[in-house]
Amino acid sequence: MKTAERLHRIKPSPSTAAAQRVRELKSQGLTILDLTVGEPDFDTPDHVKAAAIRAIEAGETKYTPVNGTSTLRAAIAGKLRERHGLEFTDGRITVGGGAKQVIFLALMATLDEGDEVIVPAPYWVSYPDMVRANDGTPVIVDCPESDGFKLTPERLAAAVTERTRWIVLNTPGNPTGSAYTTGELRALARVLLAHPHVGVLTDEIYDEIWYGDQDAPSLAAVEPRLADRVFLTNGVSKTYAMTGWRIGYGVGPADLVTAINTLQSQTSSCPSSVSQAAAAAALTGPQDFVQDTVRVYRARRDETAKLVNDVPQLSCTIPDGGFYLLVNCRAAIGKFTPAGTRIENDEDFALHLLDSQQVAVIHGTAYGAPGYFRISFATSTDVLTEACERIATACAALTDAPSV
Ligand code: PMP
Repeated sequence: MKTAERLHRIKPSPSTAAAQRVRELKSQGLTILDLTVGEPDFDTPDHVKAAAIRAIEAGETKYTPVNGTSTLRAAIAGKLRERHGLEFTDGRITVGGGAKQVIFLALMATLDEGDEVIVPAPYWVSYPDMVRANDGTPVIVDCPESDGFKLTPERLAAAVTERTRWIVLNTPGNPTGSAYTTGELRALARVLLAHPHVGVLTDEIYDEIWYGDQDAPSLAAVEPRLADRVFLTNGVSKTYAMTGWRIGYGVGPADLVTAINTLQSQTSSCPSSVSQAAAAAALTGPQDFVQDTVRVYRARRDETAKLVNDVPQLSCTIPDGGFYLLVNCRAAIGKFTPAGTRIENDEDFALHLLDSQQVAVIHGTAYGAPGYFRISFATSTDVLTEACERIATACAALTDAPSV
């Protein structure tokens, strides 16, 4: 079957591809220490599952409104009010099959051929391809580790053109874990106020997996004058270990939300009714699951970062949020493996870890971060400790010249 031109511009998500590769190796009987996973290793909380079962038993098994049930929309409004003091009327909230789908539809609803979307790098793998799939042009702006992997107002100002439709802000970010402070958001907002044609897509899916003392700030709350062009997306996947339930949401300008609803009405009709009941219970029910899991993530973050930073060829900064470490492996590039292969780049390095030590990580180039690789610490401390030991062994085996 001939595929459309837009398909030729994109590739399958590297994290999904990595997960597939790990599954294949495991099915061959190999024990792989898998640090690629982009989802919590915890089970969905029991009270959330119970809400889904109740919904099934009560017959909530039919199509819901295109933009989600009023119960879930009210729960989302409640969360944003409580956390950020933001007020969203019902017409400014939409629910989709994961934040991923909501972001995709937002781009589909707004991009025409040649429209530009500023994507700070390192970025979540899907942004550039979602832009390309919707006829837009991603404008990648490198944000080096020395800037905390964050976009500066200067770099933003230099990247804006007449064709800029969106800038994507992912805070806390995947794969960096970096989050913008209130001051940094204010500085970016000053640039954006001078460019009224630019919208801001702020992806806050990791907002609750957060290690700071105060809540992670949100641009819409920091600069209310941007309220009519900020589209904030979030979901229940990461916070409540609900990746398989597929519920995400977006809040923003009413005309954009209406456009997204039109697209949703012609694609999925609505997200799963049962999952929506579960998501509403997650957002409105007890939040001790979130506190407990963040405590566990924090301990893993600290321990894993320490082990990584003990390896002479590697270094990483401590993330503010999320469950990833972006590890700098530049010192290993140009070295030789015991098999005599030269490590040319981060992809070769990741392959070396997999082949020699059966540790799976995702190479940084997939995230626009050459010279780095991503570790997910959404896995047990035992696996993390063992994997770090093996990574240290793989690094120690590297030599400056091929062994003869
Ligand atoms: N944004 C970011 C930055 C992510 O890492 C993910 C999940 N990998 C998503 C959005 C999508 O989440 P979901 O579709 O499960 O809501």
